Amino acid sequence: MQNFKFLNNIRSNNRQFAVIGLGRFGRAVCEVLYKQGYQVLGTDIDESLVALALSERILGNAIQLDSTKPSALKEAGIFEIDTVIVAIGKYVEVSVVTTLNIKEAGVNYIAAKASTEIHGKLLKKVGADLVVFPEYDAGCELAHRLTKPSILERLDLDPEHSIVELTVPEVFHNKTLAELEIRNKYGLNIVAVGSPAQFKINPDPQERLYKGLAMVVIGSNKDIQRLPM
Ligand code: ATP
Repeated sequence: MQNFKFLNNIRSNNRQFAVIGLGRFGRAVCEVLYKQGYQVLGTDIDESLVALALSERILGNAIQLDSTKPSALKEAGIFEIDTVIVAIGKYVEVSVVTTLNIKEAGVNYIAAKASTEIHGKLLKKVGADLVVFPEYDAGCELAHRLTKPSILERLDLDPEHSIVELTVPEVFHNKTLAELEIRNKYGLNIVAVGSPAQFKINPDPQERLYKGLAMVVIGSNKDIQRLPM
């Protein structure tokens, strides 16, 4: 499947990230951010995980520390970083205290992993800006993938709405946006159409779609599901 990555291309590249907890989830976050060229600092209480992350080159810098200790976080420079990911799921108290420490220090944006609904609520209460439920999200993602293999990239806006980048369905080939009446028929807005070389933003109603190109749509997940494959 072609990799158009329109949504990736519009993301800013100069942000710094810190990931607290280098378990499977935290390591995956580090790896993807680091591969995209971002500055990534990882920390874990377990020295062997710090060493492993460094040896696998999934981040730029890694430090062993106990994130429940504000002084350790401060010394490591975590409070200076604009986006911090708390990747601790199993130890709820540690995760909540860590998030609170970071929030109190005034970090701009905190994303945190929750293992249960109540854990998620606690994280929100202590100031997490984004709470993710990896197992739940992975289950939803799998279901979407199995039913909509043409989706190349997905950005969830909230639990019910997304921006998705998908290959132009066969039945849309050689038709204009006006002819297809996407907004009327599906309740979706097409925000970009194109190829890796060039995307047209806010395409004209007379824009013609061709199979092999990609289109980026915004709308409800229910409406996106109704698009033909
Ligand atoms: P995953 O599902 O991501 O593999 P896990 O099951 O390994 O997670 P979690 O409980 O989610 O474990 O913890 C993630 C990481 O957080 C672990 O590697 C653990 O060593 C680290 N960790 C636990 N307590 C602290 C702490 N006080 N300070 C820093 N890191 C910690």
